[in-house]
Amino acid sequence: MSLWEKEAHFQDRTAWETAARQCRACHLREEGNAGPVLSTGDVHAPLMIVGEGPGGVEDEYGAPLVGPSGQLLDKALASVGITRDRVYVTNIVKCRPRGNRTPTLAEGAACADRWLHEEIRLCGPRVIVALGKVSLCYFYGGQTGIVRSRGHWLNWNGIPVMPTFHPAYLLRQTGHDLVEAKWQVYYDLKAAKEKASEAAPEWIWKTDPPPDLLKQFLPVKEKRQHKC
Ligand code: SF4
Repeated sequence: MSLWEKEAHFQDRTAWETAARQCRACHLREEGNAGPVLSTGDVHAPLMIVGEGPGGVEDEYGAPLVGPSGQLLDKALASVGITRDRVYVTNIVKCRPRGNRTPTLAEGAACADRWLHEEIRLCGPRVIVALGKVSLCYFYGGQTGIVRSRGHWLNWNGIPVMPTFHPAYLLRQTGHDLVEAKWQVYYDLKAAKEKASEAAPEWIWKTDPPPDLLKQFLPVKEKRQHKC
């Protein structure tokens, strides 16, 4: 048993989820959101994708990466033969920062130490994809840049981590820069899928038709509307 497994705080996923949904441990919970946004996808998936924090649509639906960035992520995953229900998607920071600002590295580390660390232990992914700088820096364990680090494997508690651009970054690019960044994300996701497939050769990566996450999370949206 590794050192990080010995630090377990929750007996199982249900206990983790129940506690995480009620968290008010930091100032982000007071920034006008409807509460922690947890995950989408399959908890048993060999590939976990870790974004930065919920935006407006994510806060509304209680699901990470389902707004414009999430739709771009879905297209990028489709380009390497993956549908969203066959991976596990979560964020470093669970509560939406006011105005959809990017969380700071300190906010990311505080929330992730409390929740993501255990989430990863309970899910047991074989490979992690870190989207964007805040996610990268958590797994890197310090300050580094996404442009320099993307495409280079890291090791976090024995789990290979592939950093790549956050889809929100792609949405800000145009022309040649956009084309280049899209190819880089494609190669990073392809490498991550290949490594995860080596560890879990039986895993099915695609369903047909692909899931409609907004439809799936509609009941959650209705509940959250009464919660702010
Ligand atoms: S951002 Fe994280 S630590 Fe802060 S209140 Fe939300 S769940 Fe808790």
